[in-house]
Amino acid sequence: ASSAQGTGAPVELDGIDTNEPSIARSYDAVLGGKDNYAIDREVRDQLLTVAPELGALARDNRAFLIRATRFLAATAGIEQFLDCGSGLPTAENTHDAARRVNVDARVVYVDNDAVCAAHGRALLDDQDHVRFVEADLAAPQRLLSDPTVRTTLDLDRPLALYQVGTLHHLPDEDDPAAIMAEYIDALPAGSYVVLSHFFHPGEAEPELSALATRLEATFLHSPMGTGRFRTHDEIAAYLDGLDLLPPGLVYLNDWWPDGPQPTQLDPVRNLMIGAVGIKR
Ligand code: SAM
Repeated sequence: ASSAQGTGAPVELDGIDTNEPSIARSYDAVLGGKDNYAIDREVRDQLLTVAPELGALARDNRAFLIRATRFLAATAGIEQFLDCGSGLPTAENTHDAARRVNVDARVVYVDNDAVCAAHGRALLDDQDHVRFVEADLAAPQRLLSDPTVRTTLDLDRPLALYQVGTLHHLPDEDDPAAIMAEYIDALPAGSYVVLSHFFHPGEAEPELSALATRLEATFLHSPMGTGRFRTHDEIAAYLDGLDLLPPGLVYLNDWWPDGPQPTQLDPVRNLMIGAVGIKR
């Protein structure tokens, strides 16, 4: 959708409804990317009115994903990555970060967004052992038995499963904890899970909580309609059965800090937390 920035009347492109915002394209817009339509930018603008620094939080999330990938490829010796809800190709993707450390790393990207699928397939056309699968991350068994997943990854050997910025787009009725329990149960010992999620701090931090509540309402009432801010305990339950690596489930900028730390962060940047866990 590189022509997506056009301002003409909404059109249907190969089954892509440009009247409906998409999570992936709105996220791309918040990150400052070009693969989005007017309706996605409308959602972005509604969110930026409530939290002008939301772009910094999105970039923090990407930086967390890259740090975790580097750690897994370089230190943990992980060679296979299943990146669920991977989104649109961006400045540095999981396979770029993993292959900088290990040229043989295998990566499967999964997303249910049609524009992501088109971009993903085009980008990965000439890459060995890096594939894109269009699938629903909320159906673990179906995803794990997908033929492309099966031929690209060896699910009997340790792998890293990513749920980075994904589960907050699932409503409570989908029971994200049960979905994650299915994934974790299916992973072989020695596998890792990387997770980040919108965070609701609760009563301990009234100001930040008020911002989380306002942002959640904006997400849910926007035409996109998803974006739940959950508590530390709710998010920790998605990692049940794993040993969390130090420093645990923390603000994204506190996870494995290996570079200069930004100071005086805007409060909105404390509205996501993340962790990396290992299945023993
Ligand atoms: N993981 C990337 C990151 O953290 O930078 C992208 C995060 S983006 C906020 C969330 C992505 O999850 C979007 O690309 C969206 O299409 C995808 N997604 C949401 N629900 C999904 C589902 N049920 N199945 C597959 N993908 C989904």
